[in-house]
Amino acid sequence: MNEKEIMDLANENIMNTYKRFPIALVRGSGSKVWDVEGKEYLDFVAGIAVCSLGHSHGRVIAAIKDQVDRLTHVSNLYYTEPQARLAKLLVDNSFADKVFFCNSGAEANEAAIKLARKYAHENLGEDKFELITMKDSFHGRTMATITATGQEKFQFGFTPLLDGFTYVPFNDVNALEAAITQKTCGIMLEPIQGEGGVNIPGDQYLTQVRKMCDRHNILLIVDEVQTGIGRTGKLFAYEHSNIKPDIMTLAKALGNGFPVGAMLATNKIAAAFGPGNHASTFGGNPLAMAASVAVLETILQEGLLESCRKTGEYFLAQLKKLQTKHTIIREVRGKGLMLACGLTIEGGDIVNACLKKGVLINCTGGKTLRFVPPLIISEQDVDQLINTLDEVMESK
Ligand SMILES: *Cc1c(COP(=O)(O)O)cnc(C)c1O
Repeated sequence: MNEKEIMDLANENIMNTYKRFPIALVRGSGSKVWDVEGKEYLDFVAGIAVCSLGHSHGRVIAAIKDQVDRLTHVSNLYYTEPQARLAKLLVDNSFADKVFFCNSGAEANEAAIKLARKYAHENLGEDKFELITMKDSFHGRTMATITATGQEKFQFGFTPLLDGFTYVPFNDVNALEAAITQKTCGIMLEPIQGEGGVNIPGDQYLTQVRKMCDRHNILLIVDEVQTGIGRTGKLFAYEHSNIKPDIMTLAKALGNGFPVGAMLATNKIAAAFGPGNHASTFGGNPLAMAASVAVLETILQEGLLESCRKTGEYFLAQLKKLQTKHTIIREVRGKGLMLACGLTIEGGDIVNACLKKGVLINCTGGKTLRFVPPLIISEQDVDQLINTLDEVMESK
């Protein structure tokens, strides 16, 4: 099928929930993807912070192929080795003692919300069920997770929402302290807000939130669906703050594109879940587990955290240079390879112009250009992006 045939067929038959760019992609390798007409694109979206090892990564593909030949699915009524191995890898490399596997970020956050409520119900009292979440946060698209998401645009038209959620401004400890009541069981936040515009809190914020949780005996849930698995230059973004959360959620980059999610907790919290309390048919699927083991081993063994920090610093410096040339760039911010330009204008035209020039970037919240490329990008890839942005912004 050619590009137009693919787009027509899709538009006729798929629900209209996505605003798509008019290209159909067929192949990817490293930091590049190709459309059906053969045009090459430099990919600084990476499936929105998913393909951190780049497209068609050798070790990940080999792991999936090997697993496909053995066993593709069995129920969680039975044990499998890939699931046990991935759990061990995650536990060994994080604060957590136990893992629950699922298939997406929203599902991981659903599991986190359920576990927090169950833990509170059993240990803190039946009237402690409220979660405080952040304005401009993003936690997913299920009913519980749009309720947790502190942005009305994701909730509009879907009321009534779940009971028991309150919202405070991100990076404001006083507002948070004031919002804690007798009913509060936990605080849920992204260490760096992704969808909300790559919003980075002050250096002390997470530490202060952790202390507040300890003081009030409530849970700290970090949503690392976007920041996790090396995106910010540490395996998990909470590590920048030297704190330990009680619950953490993962998804996006964990399988490098193979759908997978995980919810992790300490033994004390995880003990609130027993057989029958929570489940997922596909959660912990052998293919997803094999892919994720390969992803984690590659990141840890091949120095990708270090190269993420290094390339991220180079990238940030180049963006700052670009800012001195173009007044439409209001602010440059980010950590590791989770970077953004705050603009004085809507970013849509810039994204479209970059696409025409063979570079994929993302715009979030209207005026923020977000860059979440594969962690394996080279400085030349960064230069290509910067040159393209420079050309495109020249005409703005
Ligand atoms: C993408 C994202 C989610 C939702 O993940 P899905 O896999 O789309 O359900 C949740 N939280 C954060 C921080 C995200 O970036």
